[in-house]
Amino acid sequence: MSAEKLTPGLRLEEVSHRYGRDPVLHGLSLEIARGEIVCLLGPSGCGKSTSLRVAAGLEPIQEGRVEIAGKEVARPGFSVPPEHRRVGLMFQDYALFPHLRVIDNVAFGVREGDKAAKRRVAMDLLTRLGVDGYARDFPHVLSGGEQQRVALARALAPRPVVMLLDEPFSGLDRRLRDRVRNDTLGVLRELSVATLLVTHDAEEAMLMADRIALMRAGAIVQSGTAAELYERPESAFAASFFGDVNIFEGTAQDGKVKTPLGSLDTVLQDGCKVRVFIRPEALLLAPAPRPDADSTAAEIIENHLLGSVSLVRLKLEGAEEPLTARSDNGALWKAGKRVRIRLDPARSFVFPASQEM
Ligand code: ATP
Repeated sequence: MSAEKLTPGLRLEEVSHRYGRDPVLHGLSLEIARGEIVCLLGPSGCGKSTSLRVAAGLEPIQEGRVEIAGKEVARPGFSVPPEHRRVGLMFQDYALFPHLRVIDNVAFGVREGDKAAKRRVAMDLLTRLGVDGYARDFPHVLSGGEQQRVALARALAPRPVVMLLDEPFSGLDRRLRDRVRNDTLGVLRELSVATLLVTHDAEEAMLMADRIALMRAGAIVQSGTAAELYERPESAFAASFFGDVNIFEGTAQDGKVKTPLGSLDTVLQDGCKVRVFIRPEALLLAPAPRPDADSTAAEIIENHLLGSVSLVRLKLEGAEEPLTARSDNGALWKAGKRVRIRLDPARSFVFPASQEM
C-alpha cells in the first residue's frame, strides 16, 4: 500500500443517531484513507444516508466523533460547519445552476484565485471528466450523464479531502452509468480523494469499491473487499444480501447438516435449526448418465446465457423449488436434459436459522 493510501481521509467513530426517539445509527465506525473508495451497502432505511449526512455536518452529531484529514470536525457540542469540512457531496438529484454556463458552474466552487485562475481549475476538471467541450454551453443542452460529470466537477472544485456520493448514478441508464461511474472513480483516485459511496445495489458496490461496508439496521455488520464478503460471509444477512444464493433448511447433527445435495460440515450444536446458503457456482453440473454417491440427479428447466456464463435453472428429483446454478459451459445444458449436481462446500455457508436475513 502506498503512503498516499495511508493518509487519513474520513473517520467516523462510534456514531449513534436518532430521529426523535427512533434510533437509526448504533455506534457506527468507519475509516477511509485518501485515494480509497469505500461503499456503504445496505437495504433501504438501514441508515446509509444518515451516516453520510453526519459525516458532512448536515445532521448535528449526537454521539461519537468525525475526523477529516486527521482533524476532529464533530463531537457532541462541537461542529465544524459543512462548508469548512473539505467535503464534497453528490446526490442523484444534483442541481446545476441553469443560468450559468458549464464552466462557471464549476468555477463557482473553486475557492482560491482570481476569475481567470478559477476558470483554469474548472477547465482542468471538466477535461479530466471528458466534458470540456461543453464549457461554454448552458446545462440544459447537456445529457443526464454529461450533467452528472459537470456536477462532479463542481463538487471537486473546492479540492475536497472527502467525497460523499449518495446513489449518484441511479438516475442514469445502464450503459451510460457504467461509463460515468468508471470515469468518476478514475478522477477521484487520481485526485486522492477519500470517497464514501452509498448504494443499495450489491453489484454496484462490487464494481466500484476497494472496500465494502455492509450495513444493516444502523450498524456495519461486515466489511472487506468484495471477494471477502462474497466468499466468506459472516452472517445469513451477508450471505443473502451480497450475491445470489439457493437456500435449504436443515438441522445440525454430529457436526454435519444434510441437504438434498449432500452433507455439509458445521460447527453448530446438535439439534440447531440451520439455513444453508449455496452460491449458484457451488452447484457443479455434469452430464453423468449413471448415479454415483457424490452427486444428485436433476433436470434442467431453462438456461440463460449471460455472456461467458450461463444461469441454469434446475429441478431436483422430489423437490418443489427450482435451484439456480452458474456454469461456464452453458452450451451443454439444454432444457429437459438430465444432469448430476455435485456440491462445492467452499461456496456453501451454514448459519443458524434464527439469524435474520
Ligand atoms: P435509502 O437507501 O432508502 O435511502 P438509507 O439506508 O439511506 O435508506 P436513511 O435515509 O439514513 O436510510 O434513513 C434511516 C431511517 O431514518 C429510515 O427509517 C428513515 O425513514 C429515517 N429517517 C431518515 N431521515 C429522517 C428524518 N429527517 N426524520 C425522521 N426520520 C428520518
